[in-house]
Amino acid sequence: MNQNTLEFAKEMDAKDPLKSFREKFFFPNFHDNEVVYFTGNSLGLQPKSTIIYIQEELEAWAKYGVEGHFLAKKPWFGYHEQLTEKAAAIVGAKPEEVVIMNSLTTNLHLMMVSFYRPLGNRTKIICEAKAFPSDQYALESQVKFHGLNVETDIIEVCPREGEHLIRDEDILSKIAEVGDELAMVMIGGVNYYTGQLFDMKSITEAGHAVGATVGFDLAHAAGNINLKLHDWDVDFAAWCGYKYLNSSPGGVSGVFVHERHADNSDLPRFAGWWGYDKETRFQMEPGFKPMHGAEGWQLSNAPVLGMAAHLASLDIFTEAGMDRVGEKRDQLTAYLESIIEDISERHSDRTTLEIITPKDKSKRGAQLSILAHGQGKALFDALTNSGVIADWREPNVIRIAPAPLYNSYEDCFRFGQHLENAIQ
Ligand SMILES: *Cc1c(COP(=O)(O)O)cnc(C)c1O
Repeated sequence: MNQNTLEFAKEMDAKDPLKSFREKFFFPNFHDNEVVYFTGNSLGLQPKSTIIYIQEELEAWAKYGVEGHFLAKKPWFGYHEQLTEKAAAIVGAKPEEVVIMNSLTTNLHLMMVSFYRPLGNRTKIICEAKAFPSDQYALESQVKFHGLNVETDIIEVCPREGEHLIRDEDILSKIAEVGDELAMVMIGGVNYYTGQLFDMKSITEAGHAVGATVGFDLAHAAGNINLKLHDWDVDFAAWCGYKYLNSSPGGVSGVFVHERHADNSDLPRFAGWWGYDKETRFQMEPGFKPMHGAEGWQLSNAPVLGMAAHLASLDIFTEAGMDRVGEKRDQLTAYLESIIEDISERHSDRTTLEIITPKDKSKRGAQLSILAHGQGKALFDALTNSGVIADWREPNVIRIAPAPLYNSYEDCFRFGQHLENAIQ
């Protein structure tokens, strides 16, 4: 049966248990029509409820001034605590292992201060080739900060000759090979370019087996992948709130620190007053006494407006549940993939659309990265001009991500129609 039809897409939408969630988001318009928005992996759409959450805090500020720290309905003093359990459920963590604070790259640095501790011959970091640029800069500057050598102390695992993806087995064997010279593994759980999901459980095991710490940047995984950070025994992780988590441009970030590190006050860290034991924080004593768990890594009091936006979105995720989000993610992504394959086959005289993202659903999330042989940027521009918001990455990749919370099967069908027009 041909599934690349409006009827089929509409039928799937009618059966979708999450279909009502689309109504909770604002869609940008293009010539008076809703765009096909496939960039939730870059900036998630705005929940209609966000303004209510932010308004509540603006009103509390107007009404109480500084007293809002205690008198606001959600007191600002502990505002971040309202987010913890909901965020922990999304990443598969215990609440004490998670805190929402700062922004992503800042948090990666804070985590590496504690978990990248080169000593003697154990100085090396393993990461994936083509890591997101901010992660590359963060890793390089950490290595230099310790007076070490970027050329020899950062080891990138690359795809094999002629392949686009990095084999998990190659990461595992590199970890074993570097062995007791390995200080830390830090990898993007889902690669931003290819959409490949790495085997975080096995990578963590392998890293620990040689005595290294293991952390993940989950910018493209949080709110997308069904994560089990606690069970996988990951040492640390950080993610941003504004991609799949829809929590406002540049919005607040999350951090995971495994519970086995919760009370290790010997771990070096860059400290601030908000990481200080809550009960005695305002005695303002000299000497740092960290809070139990991830909260002990906080620096500053919560940026409440950004946190409010995050809470609005976390409440939507809590209602939907990551299990349902994950089920729809796999079906929706597979449907979009089938449409692209159908179009690529029928127009093979003009172009080949090669999806470089893994076909296996256990190796990817909601993103598909398309290599457009023979067309490239012109094809992307034509899509943009017809009302598709997708993402272009040099030299030749179109990234699209159907976000299961608000994208529909009909969006996938409409994308296909625009793609076909653009090819012709
Ligand atoms: C989006 C993204 C970032 C962005 O970092 P910010 O500090 O939030 O600007 C960093 N790393 C990865 C892997 C990303 O995907």
